[in-house]
Amino acid sequence: MKFENAVSFAKKLDQQDPLRSHRSKFLLPKINGKTAIYFTGNSLGLQPKSTKKFVNEELNDWATLGVEGHFHSKRPWLHYHRFSKKSLAKLVGAKPSEVVAMNQLTVNLHLMMTSFYRPTKTRFKILTEAGAFSSDQYAFESQVKFHGLNPDETIIELSPREREFTLRTEDILRAIEENKNEIALVIFGAVQYYTGQFFDIKKIAEAGHQAGATVGFDLAHAIGNVPMQLHTDKVDFAVWCGYKYLNSGAGGMAGVFVHEKHAQSFELPRFAGWWGHNQKERFQMKKGFKPSAGADGWQLSNFPVLSGAAQLASLEIFDQVGMPALRKKSLLLTGYLEFLLKSIDHFEDYFSIITPSDKNQRGCQLSLLMKINGKKTFDRITKAGVIADWREPDVIRVAPVPLYNTFEEVFLFAQIFANAIR
Ligand SMILES: *Cc1c(COP(=O)(O)O)cnc(C)c1O
Repeated sequence: MKFENAVSFAKKLDQQDPLRSHRSKFLLPKINGKTAIYFTGNSLGLQPKSTKKFVNEELNDWATLGVEGHFHSKRPWLHYHRFSKKSLAKLVGAKPSEVVAMNQLTVNLHLMMTSFYRPTKTRFKILTEAGAFSSDQYAFESQVKFHGLNPDETIIELSPREREFTLRTEDILRAIEENKNEIALVIFGAVQYYTGQFFDIKKIAEAGHQAGATVGFDLAHAIGNVPMQLHTDKVDFAVWCGYKYLNSGAGGMAGVFVHEKHAQSFELPRFAGWWGHNQKERFQMKKGFKPSAGADGWQLSNFPVLSGAAQLASLEIFDQVGMPALRKKSLLLTGYLEFLLKSIDHFEDYFSIITPSDKNQRGCQLSLLMKINGKKTFDRITKAGVIADWREPDVIRVAPVPLYNTFEEVFLFAQIFANAIR
């Protein structure tokens, strides 16, 4: 599409947008009484108006049924982990048995690494991207130490080439090949939180497996943002959180994917709890842990129903829209943002877009590396009604979210930003 730098053009795109009605399903934050331009759905997704209804239904059932709610509430609490399976499976390209909502992201990362990071004397290294999200780094480091190994000799962090900001797929594949005798685990953030780079899941999984490693992905910035096919790409495991693009509320339900090939791998070491026990025998309270088949076998505790209810409200919207339509709009929306930013006079004197310009290598987020006046610019756009995200030392992240952001907002943002950098 040929973009135009005009508000009338932006408005026309909004009129033609088949997803435009979904914006009204969300509660939009305000700054000084005016609806903000909210570009931080990558950090905390907005609240669907239906969330209150879903949560209230559980509160009411709790009030009227007490413990009987486990069996007789509208959505029986005993089976709550099942209610999100189909929707989550669609979002990550999996079978329902391969996914389950549980815990928080970092907890899940530890549970997955307990099973799928099994270092031996010769094969013990972890290969990952440099500058991974801090919590992931801490998980890797502490897992390595847990196995009695030295993180400095065990974790390989891949950095971009000099004067480049993102990794080239060919360089990732070469690094896997070069370390093929020593790597036990290859793990990447599917969409890198800082640069917004969307890695080639299929190629990384293939190369990792060829090298004899297991392959995992952190989907914190990918789920609900980009389409994935974890099942056909044969990824071993993945973890995600629910409060970013999934709009499940702060600290909301996280989840895991475990590939079907491991569904019956009952011999895999795992940390167990009663909710992961064979569901037919769960209440016999007997000795001897027998895991459920599939991802369910990694659950520990009974399900946090209030959190889960909030997530169901958002997943209902994702089901109505579907990832293909969402991705289609997302490519246009972010493409338009990129076009407008690059139309700013001498923009390169002020900032670089470090997110890949190839749309297949990014989601909706653009990361702007500020060359001058970074924090000042950020404070100015905040004052002007934009909610964006500042990352030390010098990056502004902006994420126009196709579920609820508009082309006009993208246009207005670009204007505000152009004024703010000078
Ligand atoms: C947001 C995010 C986290 C947060 O971890 P929690 O356990 O949900 O607090 C971890 N890793 C990545 C890559 C993230 O983007």
